[in-house]
Amino acid sequence: MAEPDYVYIPVQELESFVTRIFGASGCTPVESARIANHLVGANLAGHDSHGVDRVPRYIAWQKAGYIIPDQKIEVISDGGGFALLDGKFGFGQTVAKQATEFGIARALQSGACIVGLRNSGHIGRTGDYAEMATAQGLISIHFVNVAGSVLVAPFGGKERRFSTAPFCIGVPLPSGPVILDFATSFVAEGKVLVASNGGKALPENALITQDGEMSGDPHTLYGPYEQVGPRNASGGTGAIRAFGDHKGSGLALMCELLAGALTGGGTSGPITERGRIANGMLSIYLSPQHFGDEDAFHQAATDYIAWVKSCRPAAEDAPILAPGEPENHRRAARRVSGVPLTKDAWQGILETAASLGINGP
Ligand code: NAD
Repeated sequence: MAEPDYVYIPVQELESFVTRIFGASGCTPVESARIANHLVGANLAGHDSHGVDRVPRYIAWQKAGYIIPDQKIEVISDGGGFALLDGKFGFGQTVAKQATEFGIARALQSGACIVGLRNSGHIGRTGDYAEMATAQGLISIHFVNVAGSVLVAPFGGKERRFSTAPFCIGVPLPSGPVILDFATSFVAEGKVLVASNGGKALPENALITQDGEMSGDPHTLYGPYEQVGPRNASGGTGAIRAFGDHKGSGLALMCELLAGALTGGGTSGPITERGRIANGMLSIYLSPQHFGDEDAFHQAATDYIAWVKSCRPAAEDAPILAPGEPENHRRAARRVSGVPLTKDAWQGILETAASLGINGP
């Protein structure tokens, strides 16, 4: 496949452009800036699948009434050490941030807190919320699902049953946090979106057709589509595969049970037609300071990671990395180079902006 054509947009310019788009679509200046900062932050981390490529889709969801600006979480139950919160279909960048702040405040006070969030708009890159917790010295664990979004075939299957259900753990260390954050699908749906926009191609076995054939072609998921324009996962007949055989498939199932069934936000399916989707998230916040000897924990974890990284690499040019390091490296590089966007993705964002009366930078 030919290398995609990229445009490089300076970070500040991109963030202020996206802020103006959400401002024009009816979000407050604070919320617009928050959404833009999160999306550009995902691009900086190298997760273009959860970056500004999503702007046209977010605006379409807002227009359809699927996401509602300026929402506040509602407390459904509160047991002190745990709480269940409802995001009322607010922007995930708003209500998941509120839910994370809630969990952080409780864990800082008493050592631990479990927070269920349901009915949240798309929360984007889960690692952002773990980074909020690690910035406060807390460990956090997040099980996430996408209610109403059935895209992923379970291990051994060729039909959709799971959402892309991400799982994330953040561990704070003096040298910087360790952040493990991934979709339980072979690739995040956004990576299929990026590939369909001419971006990085998918592995040939990322998807499975309804006939059980492996595929790396985004049409397997979306069906026919125009090169610039929306993608609809109802259009295709195939599925994304779960990662890691039976183990990844099992973790995806658990994300659906904890983030979807337990929170009351609902699981990925069954659904007859793809409409409003919502993230659910079950988060556990833990304070090492309350739990035991924080300094000893930091030392033991730091020493252990150094030992893991001292492992002789199988390929000389690919050193062992801790989770979160690839994102740190990409952030540093992209702050200098600007954010690379495929021409098709950039065109889609410009068209969405124009529809709201906003000119591109
Ligand atoms: P991915 O496959 O790129 O994996 C990322 C994780 O693996 C990171 O923790 C990274 O640090 C680590 N990693 C990558 N290369 C490494 C290496 N060489 N050595 C050590 N660690 C390494 O991620 P993904 O599955 O494509 O997910 C991308 C993003 O999509 C995540 O931020 C996730 O939260 C998000 N997502 C969100 C939703 C949602 O509904 N909101 C759904 C699915 C995914």
